[in-house]
Amino acid sequence: MLRTLVPHLLRTAPVRLALTHGPLSSAVVDRFVAGGTEQDAVAAVVRLAGGGLRASVDLLGEGVLGAQDAHGTVEAYLRLLAVADQHGVAAGLDVSVKLSALGQAVPRDGQAVSAANAALIAARAQSLGATITLDMEDHTTTDATLTTLVQLRRDFPTVGAVVQAQLRRTEADCRDLARAGSRVRLCKGAYLEPASLAHQGRRAVSASYARCLGILMAGPGYPMIATHDPELLELTGRLVRHLDRPAASYEYQLLFGVRPAEQRRLAAAGATVRVYLPYGPDCVPYLSRRVVEKPANLLLALHAASDR
Ligand code: FAD
Repeated sequence: MLRTLVPHLLRTAPVRLALTHGPLSSAVVDRFVAGGTEQDAVAAVVRLAGGGLRASVDLLGEGVLGAQDAHGTVEAYLRLLAVADQHGVAAGLDVSVKLSALGQAVPRDGQAVSAANAALIAARAQSLGATITLDMEDHTTTDATLTTLVQLRRDFPTVGAVVQAQLRRTEADCRDLARAGSRVRLCKGAYLEPASLAHQGRRAVSASYARCLGILMAGPGYPMIATHDPELLELTGRLVRHLDRPAASYEYQLLFGVRPAEQRRLAAAGATVRVYLPYGPDCVPYLSRRVVEKPANLLLALHAASDR
């Protein structure tokens, strides 16, 4: 119910206005979004680096339908990488890209358009020692995104992808992806999916996450554990010890503004921690997913960051 209601609510004119210009704006947006420009994003990357945290920067925006708009997304990512380079933080940076923002849904040749656009970003990233990760969107795009991953990795072998534990197919995808050189981000999944394709309910999704985590951690690839769930973070720690995995062979990933004290705690304990850092003007779809996950986020942000 919340998953369908909140995005509609957040799109209504009064709430949108409050989020972007009103009293909610600085509280909600500032907590979860780095700012509107590439300079804002890179300034946040620099601040995170000062605290021993890495970043994966995401330009907000999705569902682009025109090739011209998709080109605009590419240009923005190239500017972002250039600004990061100017500030000396491009090497080791990751950028998260949504293929839907790169033209995946453009009629007729969207798959080829988005793959070519992603290749432009991957080429620039690779030349600077940065990486790119393909975000995963709803189930209608999973096959296309994994196909693009295979194509991109031929020229850019560090390109990573995301799998969503809520999807029933994901254990099999993990077996397929858990190879030497792979970079796989495991998350629960942020999209409303039908029961025929997805585990329903928190318990079932967490159980699937644990199984997928076991597969990725036992393999020779580079798992990126994207969760704030205390039990799953704890399980990861146990698997690391049991499998004797070196700290450099995996990383934790958490969202900007979510459990920042836990981010610092993990980093202080010697783990690699990467913060998913969104920026850009089009923040409504992203914020609505965060509110669906945790409705208290609206209130939480209003009461300012208790966990900072
Ligand atoms: P939950 O069960 O949602 O939460 C567990 C606990 O974590 C909560 O009880 C609470 O204590 C804390 N918590 C969780 N969320 C919040 C929050 N918003 N604010 C405050 N506390 C919170 N999804 C996709 O579908 N595709 C992607 O490409 C994708 N990329 C991601 C990248 C990263 C780095 C991360 C961290 C998540 C990504 N997600 C993506 C979102 C993910 O699928 C989940 O929707 C989100 O991470 C919440 O799930 P959780 O594992 O934290 O567990």
